[in-house]
Amino acid sequence: MRFEDQRALLVQELTQEGITDERVLNAFRKVPRELFVSPQYLEYAYRNQPLPIDCYQTISQPLMIAIMLQYLELNPEDIVLEIGTGSGYQTALLAELAKEVCTIERIETLSLKAQELLKNLGYKNIHFRIGDGTQGWQKAYPPYKEFNKIIVSAAAREIPPKLKEQLADQGIMVIPVGTGYYQILHRVVRDKDRFIITKHGGCTFVPLVST
Ligand code: SAH
Repeated sequence: MRFEDQRALLVQELTQEGITDERVLNAFRKVPRELFVSPQYLEYAYRNQPLPIDCYQTISQPLMIAIMLQYLELNPEDIVLEIGTGSGYQTALLAELAKEVCTIERIETLSLKAQELLKNLGYKNIHFRIGDGTQGWQKAYPPYKEFNKIIVSAAAREIPPKLKEQLADQGIMVIPVGTGYYQILHRVVRDKDRFIITKHGGCTFVPLVST
């Protein structure tokens, strides 16, 4: 089956699983996941499952990404911070849904690969940093001090204080929290100095490694 048709079937599956945000579904209709998976897993590119990528990391499960994007309530004006660029697949989805995306990856090899791929795909609203994402965005350019939306794609022991600091007032962060194989997806909404945290079921991510 052509990748295009497989992509349409995946979107159907996401709809059946309860994803209703049309903008999120449209982004999934557009981004070619086959370019982000390792060549040996090409035939599984549109299965609703995570897959291994280089450096012992994983490209996240499409449904998990969709759930997180839906919780973020993204709009075209949003400035987004992503921790854990990985393959860059979710970064591309974010770039479709928001105004600017700042993405941090600690493993240089992965970041450089994602940078090349995303530039070749024509994205101009993505900014990359190699380093520890728990410290937040620290680059002089673009000089963002806070973000409307923050998405963390690796499991944190606790919500990193720097990320709370960099969440704008009324901003939303989604982050898996936990130490074992299973974690709980947390959604944090900032209301001035208050952080309203709700929990949204189990998930499995590689650990967020802070240096
Ligand atoms: N959304 C990505 C997920 C990749 S897996 C995808 O679908 O491809 C999570 C990524 O987080 C890994 O690449 C890992 O190296 C990275 N990571 C872990 N701890 C990190 C940290 N402290 N800062 C930045 N990236 C981190």
